[in-house]
Amino acid sequence: MNRSEQLIELTEKYGAHNYHPLPIVISKAEGVWVQDPEGNRYMDMLSAYSAVNQGHRHPKIIDALMKQTERVTLTSRAFHNDQLGPWYEKVAKLTGKEMVLPMNTGAEAVETALKAARRWGYFLKGVPEDQAEIIAFEGNFHGRTLAAISLSSEAEYKRGFGPLLPGIKVVPYGDIEALRSAITKNTVAILIEPIQGEAGIVVPPEGFLKEAYNLCHQNDVLFVADEIQSGLGRSGKMFASDWEDVVPDMYILGKALGGGVFPISCVAANNDILGVFNPGSHGSTFGGNPLACAVSNAAIDVIIDEKLPERSLKLGNYFIEKLKTLKNPMIKEVRGKGLFIGVELFEPARTYTEKLKEAGLLCKETHENVIRFAPPLIITKEELDWAFEKIGKVLGSE
Ligand code: PLP
Repeated sequence: MNRSEQLIELTEKYGAHNYHPLPIVISKAEGVWVQDPEGNRYMDMLSAYSAVNQGHRHPKIIDALMKQTERVTLTSRAFHNDQLGPWYEKVAKLTGKEMVLPMNTGAEAVETALKAARRWGYFLKGVPEDQAEIIAFEGNFHGRTLAAISLSSEAEYKRGFGPLLPGIKVVPYGDIEALRSAITKNTVAILIEPIQGEAGIVVPPEGFLKEAYNLCHQNDVLFVADEIQSGLGRSGKMFASDWEDVVPDMYILGKALGGGVFPISCVAANNDILGVFNPGSHGSTFGGNPLACAVSNAAIDVIIDEKLPERSLKLGNYFIEKLKTLKNPMIKEVRGKGLFIGVELFEPARTYTEKLKEAGLLCKETHENVIRFAPPLIITKEELDWAFEKIGKVLGSE
């Protein structure tokens, strides 16, 4: 048994079986490349579900981490720390919003947005107590907490976990009439991924985001964008909402906000929305900790300084066109924006992702039939050509 096999056995023996990983152990990583304990190298085409947009262990982000570990790592919010204020300002400028609320994981930031929307509904819109409604979209993925799975249309995410959160409606993604019919006087928010990630990189019909935004504003409903996966350059724009010039009332950010180095997430919105929180109404022991803020500060700088959204757009267009040349009757569709790409097959994708792994390329099936290609945005054209050659061998004509 080699080292990888031993480690997988340990993981299987003692870990809860809530994931079905490919049989590879990563023990080292740099940029777009990862390595197993036996020294085999693989290209990472998943980027930890887009948390590593800046590439593994980006030197500027690691430098910020190391420097901060020598000063202070955790204060709790019982006291101020010297990293939080400057980080707030950076995120406020990035999103164009007046206020920011930090959490740690994506799901917690989603919870925060839901709480903010409900309070806004009761305190400002005048929705009667406990009557607030939130509209989500079929195929959504907002995390694994009870509130997040309550929004889900996926039976397996919810099986055995009830009772779920009331006050939620789910309508088909991209169907403006269904959205219009679902809005009532008690609707406080719609929660939407501007491009659905876990659903298999689903881009809504052109104009939908804008129409949905207008509908929200005509009805005094908040447009809340979950940009945890689609944001921070992944889709070829800073935010996927930018594709339709939509400025959401609330942004939910996570994943690449910490550069794949340290977890940090947040909600950004104007004072009228995030102002609903008062001391005691919400919080997190680790939310806004100085280590996360220092890392995130550097992670945002890297996205801006290295023009990662522009890079994603240019290389994404290049790669999508290449993938479209693949001739295989099993390929149903190649779609995406920037380096946020899905190849949908007529059959389960798992055998292909396993073969791609054997060829030195790590990616993951999503939603059974879709292979997601989402490499770190620092990837080069030459590296994409290398990847395409491998993909061609596995997915080319059959
Ligand atoms: N929202 C979206 C759009 C996501 O893609 C994810 C994670 O994949 C989440 C929320 C949940 O984030 P986390 O796993 O950090 O809780």
